[in-house]
Amino acid sequence: MPELLSKETILVRDSAEAFVNDVLLPLEAELEDDSVPDEVKNKVRSASQQAGFYYKTQPTEFGGKPAGVLELTMLRELWAQANSPLTNYIFGPGPGILHAAQGELKDNYLDPVMRGEKRGAFGFTEPDTAKRPSWARIDGDTLIINGQKSYVTGGATADFVSALINVENEGGSKAGTAMVVIDREADGVTIEREFASMEGGGHVSMTFHDVRVPISRVIGKIGEGMPRALGNIGNVRLMISAQATGMCMWVIDFVEQHLLAPHRSGTPLGEREGVRMRYADMRIETYAARSALYRTARIAESEDNDVNETIATKVFCTEAAGRAVDMAVQLVGGQALVRGHPLEAAYRKVRSLRLTEGASDLLRINLAKGNLELRKGRL
Ligand SMILES: Cc1cc2nc3c(=O)[nH]c(=O)nc-3n(C[C@H](O)[C@H](O)[C@H](O)COP(=O)(O)OP(=O)(O)OC[C@H]3O[C@@H](n4cnc5c(N)ncnc54)[C@H](O)[C@@H]3O)c2cc1C
Repeated sequence: MPELLSKETILVRDSAEAFVNDVLLPLEAELEDDSVPDEVKNKVRSASQQAGFYYKTQPTEFGGKPAGVLELTMLRELWAQANSPLTNYIFGPGPGILHAAQGELKDNYLDPVMRGEKRGAFGFTEPDTAKRPSWARIDGDTLIINGQKSYVTGGATADFVSALINVENEGGSKAGTAMVVIDREADGVTIEREFASMEGGGHVSMTFHDVRVPISRVIGKIGEGMPRALGNIGNVRLMISAQATGMCMWVIDFVEQHLLAPHRSGTPLGEREGVRMRYADMRIETYAARSALYRTARIAESEDNDVNETIATKVFCTEAAGRAVDMAVQLVGGQALVRGHPLEAAYRKVRSLRLTEGASDLLRINLAKGNLELRKGRL
């Protein structure tokens, strides 16, 4: 539980709270709108490097000092609780799906990513209208890729996309799935549409038309595509769960201030029993979400199988955050819906969490399968 952290983790938490108060919030106060100028991003990064947070998501071989799952979860929850656009720049770049890259892939992609010189995007989702999922034919030591990806976050400015591709042998038989690194500016890659989602993310849909890529750009081996694409997903789901509980914490704090403030009726809203019941529900759900989050982080840290527990946590925490923000909007009233109000932004932000890295109902189906068919998962 959050209150049973080791002394070392509590020290990290204290310094992280000081970082938010002393570095982040003063810089945030200088922002003129939602956008974050490069100069401010760089200030956050260099302060984070000095404080040591920057290196906590980076492997030792790249000069990092990786933190354990529990410490990272605690930090991610705390950054989310700060509800500041600047928290995106605290951690340094991680290797992501390129983590085991060797040879040309390491020299030309992984190393520049870790130095902050290149940025990759992730191409997994296919449009509902796709006639067939993205595929490639092997031609000697080259892959010839065709197809499309419909929702590539950061794809407009990324240097490359790591895309899930179904590979066929020269004769047309199936060779298996592969994660392939494709340069955004390679011949045959077209950005069809740029769009933004309600929480503020920027994305593209892209097509591949006879894109020629050396086989050396396959991450790992052909046949390992799907497991590699899903390999890191447990960590990402736990990360999203921490973001969701951090948002619950922020929203409770926000609502508390509203309930204790003067109200036009003459008495603060927090004195009404009906309002207190709603507020209590928010606290109950947040308590349950945090309990699940920290329990699952400990299971993950122990390196025991945590697939089903992480699924349960992601579904619960993201749905709890949705309900908490929704109730906060209700208790604050019409002002909360005005564009630019912190709750209006929070409402948009938490909505996406129930779709990214696994839509809630698909995760429910996986969870049931994990237990009924594979006998996995604790209660
Ligand atoms: C902010 C954001 C960022 C994203 N970034 C990326 C990215 O960088 N790269 C990338 O590849 N993708 C990205 N995505 C896409 C995301 O992965 C998908 O939206 C998500 O996996 C759901 O897939 P879908 O949109 O195709 O919906 P679908 O798979 O069509 O599902 C829609 C709904 O149908 C229902 N449903 C579907 N199948 C079943 C079933 N078997 N049983 C019961 N109900 C079902 C569920 O209610 C589900 O929510 C992003 C999405 C968002 C919102």
